[in-house]
Amino acid sequence: MSEILIKNGNIVTSNNVYKSDILIKDSKIELIDINIKTNSPNVKIIDAQSMYVLPGAIDPHVHMELPTPAGNSSDDFRTGSIAALAGGTTSIIDFVTPSKGQSFIEALNLRKKEAEKSLIDYGFHMSPTWWGKNSANEMKKCVIEEGITSFKTYLAYKKVVGISDEILINVMKTAKDLNALVTLHCENGDIVDFLKNKFISEGKTQTKYHVLSRPPEVESEAVNRATTFAKLVGCPIYIVHVSTKQSIDIIKKAQESGQKVYAETCPHYLLLDKNIFNKNDFSQTAPYVLSPALRTKEHRNKLWNALSNNIINTVASDHCPFNVIGQKDVGINDFTKIPNGAGGVEHRLSLLYTYGVSANLITINQFVDLIATNPAKIFGLSHRKGKIAKGMDADIVIWNPDKEEIISAKTHKQNCDSNIFENYKVKGMPEIVIANGKIALENDTVNVNDLKGNYLFRKVQK
Ligand SMILES: [Zn+2]
Repeated sequence: MSEILIKNGNIVTSNNVYKSDILIKDSKIELIDINIKTNSPNVKIIDAQSMYVLPGAIDPHVHMELPTPAGNSSDDFRTGSIAALAGGTTSIIDFVTPSKGQSFIEALNLRKKEAEKSLIDYGFHMSPTWWGKNSANEMKKCVIEEGITSFKTYLAYKKVVGISDEILINVMKTAKDLNALVTLHCENGDIVDFLKNKFISEGKTQTKYHVLSRPPEVESEAVNRATTFAKLVGCPIYIVHVSTKQSIDIIKKAQESGQKVYAETCPHYLLLDKNIFNKNDFSQTAPYVLSPALRTKEHRNKLWNALSNNIINTVASDHCPFNVIGQKDVGINDFTKIPNGAGGVEHRLSLLYTYGVSANLITINQFVDLIATNPAKIFGLSHRKGKIAKGMDADIVIWNPDKEEIISAKTHKQNCDSNIFENYKVKGMPEIVIANGKIALENDTVNVNDLKGNYLFRKVQK
């Protein structure tokens, strides 16, 4: 039996910060009390004096080894999970994206194989990309036999994974009957296609036209449609990567009317500006080609405000990196060919802490809610993860509020030749990370030999 005793730390929960010791036995939290003593000869003692003790973070939106015409996203489950651990994330929820006509369960089994190399626990959202006579039954199997409690739908990317309104309604109705959640990528794909084709036909091929082809209305139209359908069908929804002030207004109104609408945003929408595209250099702008597009300060202020007011419930990374050289550069003469996405799993916590908690925009309790407690509750993991309590999985981050770093692609653990937060300074980082009761990060080194992630069977909310 292995034991870890964390002494003198400041434990952070949704509504409290308190000093206590924590005893971990094997993979679970055995005891939380002041001044715990143990006489086990094998105990490892961690002195967490002047540190925060946080629940291991859950990133509910990542795309490891996502297949695209420009190759897979550049982090696979192994390298991506190493980067996640370096930043304090101990569980991820990725996606299963069946091709049109493919059985959802068959696609899930193939995806599970790819994820076996993850060093941290992993679950999946299932994405119905098509609808057939067996689809409702397959969704039921996902929930009951596979512990998949959330279904991701795309209102953009019509020709690849996007679905019609008619299919969306089928998915919502089925999810409602199963007590499951529908998550949505809200952008109107048809109007994006129209704008993209228009720019290309006018010879406007540079990266900045990516942003101009995805203006804020493209998102808010789809958010409005999603909340309207959800209301009429009676289905709870979760809107991924919200980026605009208009979307916040729609979501707030739906929440106030009593609808179950959850919202997520990402560090890049909170921190980065679309004026990055004023540079005309491809290699300096291509890393920022992601969807929805980057916005302006006005939108960012509204997003921070929505975090502080609990309108936005989670901050996820939407981790989906591609190298500039050899991947993004397929679109050097045509922005529509650039694979969309950027890495973020490694710095989600340190960025949100530095620019949110330390800047007094959110409290440390809200920080824990946004990165761990709320994702666990919303996605059916709160019986095991997302808070520090007796009997929970021993996923714990010893957070050093004084530790500093300047983010750079030269030193990050993400497998990518660029970083959209290059030169960003962060203060507040993990000192030690424990995953499933094992020391996973210590002295800036991920203990790769000792770790193995497990598939997360999730439970529906009643
Ligand atoms: Zn995504």
